Amino acid sequence: MNIKQLPDEMIHRQQEFISAVAEMNMGKTLTAFVDTYGCQQNEADSEIIRGILCEMGYIQVDDESDADVIVINSCAVREHAEQRVLGNVGQLIHVKRKRNCFIAVCGCMVQQPQMAEKIKKSYRHVDMVFGVHALPRFPELFYRALTTQKRVFDIEASDGVIAEGLPVLRKDKTKAWVSIMYGCNNFCTYCIVPYVRGRERSRAPGMIVEEITRLVEEGCRDVTLLGQNVNSYGNDLSEDIDFSGLLELINDIPGDFRIRFMTSHPKDATPRLFDTMAKCEKVANHIHLPFQSGSDRILGLMNRRYDSTKYRELVRYARSKMPDISVTSDVIVGFPGETDEDFDGTMKLVEDIGFDGLFVFIYSKRSGTPAAEMEDPTPRSEKVKRFQKLFDLQDEITARKSAGLLGTEVDVLVEAVQEEQNGCNLLARTESNRPVYVKGDSSLVGTFTKARITDSSKWGMYGELV
Ligand code: SAH
Ligand code: SF4
Repeated sequence: MNIKQLPDEMIHRQQEFISAVAEMNMGKTLTAFVDTYGCQQNEADSEIIRGILCEMGYIQVDDESDADVIVINSCAVREHAEQRVLGNVGQLIHVKRKRNCFIAVCGCMVQQPQMAEKIKKSYRHVDMVFGVHALPRFPELFYRALTTQKRVFDIEASDGVIAEGLPVLRKDKTKAWVSIMYGCNNFCTYCIVPYVRGRERSRAPGMIVEEITRLVEEGCRDVTLLGQNVNSYGNDLSEDIDFSGLLELINDIPGDFRIRFMTSHPKDATPRLFDTMAKCEKVANHIHLPFQSGSDRILGLMNRRYDSTKYRELVRYARSKMPDISVTSDVIVGFPGETDEDFDGTMKLVEDIGFDGLFVFIYSKRSGTPAAEMEDPTPRSEKVKRFQKLFDLQDEITARKSAGLLGTEVDVLVEAVQEEQNGCNLLARTESNRPVYVKGDSSLVGTFTKARITDSSKWGMYGELV
């Protein structure tokens, strides 16, 4: 299969729209605020939106009430996220009344036609709606909305393309998200992502290597490769390359930096992946490997295509190659029909594995997915109890793990200056991605160093620079 890369002429065309808006804005001081909901992929998309707005002459601000242009990049993964987006978009009517700002809503939530329609009808202060597939055409759509003074809606669903060469504005110089692929082919029965983000498509390895080389030259020290399932990277490329091969290529880029990636689907995680991680010195000793449930029956209903035995085996293998690897995960409680017994399986798996971090979610019904049609007799109150039990169990495990690190020395990257707490003014992060608060000079930001852990809590650890 060929990569569906947008032809250069189309990117140039978008550059022309950027220039046209910049010309219209000439001599004015205009501001923009981009708010992001959901996952890191959305964060990365927002960096492109900021990059485009910046080239159009908008200065980025941190408060919507100061902005001439507001872009809300929405999430659809759970109903709660959608309600937050809708609530906040609703509130923007007051900002609009005070300051006649331009309001756009984009991202996964509005890629669903019923949600775009809802905004069209009930949120008339919104000037523009564009879905995830329309992101590369944001300059053109924005230009059209500004020049015609008409509301613009574009949620055309497509299998999606890859747009290289759009501007990116990253907030952080030390850390960067780099998308290596888009979309998802897995259709886990609870999940809306494949419906809104289209099929898997991988960026060309050369493009990825070029981008990271530049980032590292500019001072970036921590690169996170993004994809819904990075382990299927390259399946759609004509080149003979898989995710492990890509890691090797990136590991060969000169410079002192760490490579992280997310997310890995257990069905496609292989011993070769862990062998490569162990071999490549720049790849962090950390894997985010969502297991979703400890019950094989539920995993089957979820269409995850692995069982708990395979999951345990993967973690065992990873730890045999990298004894100090940190393993983090996602889990869903209250999937339709989950029984006490199924839930016990999840508790047991969490206890046995001893995750270094765990995101626990209560199942949220997403219309259009197969799970939305399944019988779901468990009351919400019971699901909340299960959530709490799992959450408490993980808290205990995290506290135990942090306590085990007291007095030890860990490698950290100093990431940022932060508001002083307990005498610590710098935020640093371990290779396993845990925050460590330390005291030191701000010039240390962007450097690798060692910290001795002096205190810990479930939120993070405190340390002294060594
Ligand atoms: N592609 C990633 C996950 C993307 S969504 C992966 O497969 O790991 C991030 C997490 O949200 C998922 O791992 C899952 O735990 C959770 N999630 C997705 N859909 C959900 C739903 N309908 N209800 C509750 N949690 C959900
Ligand atoms: Fe959703 Fe499953 Fe795809 Fe992850 S792998 S995005 S959970 S369908």
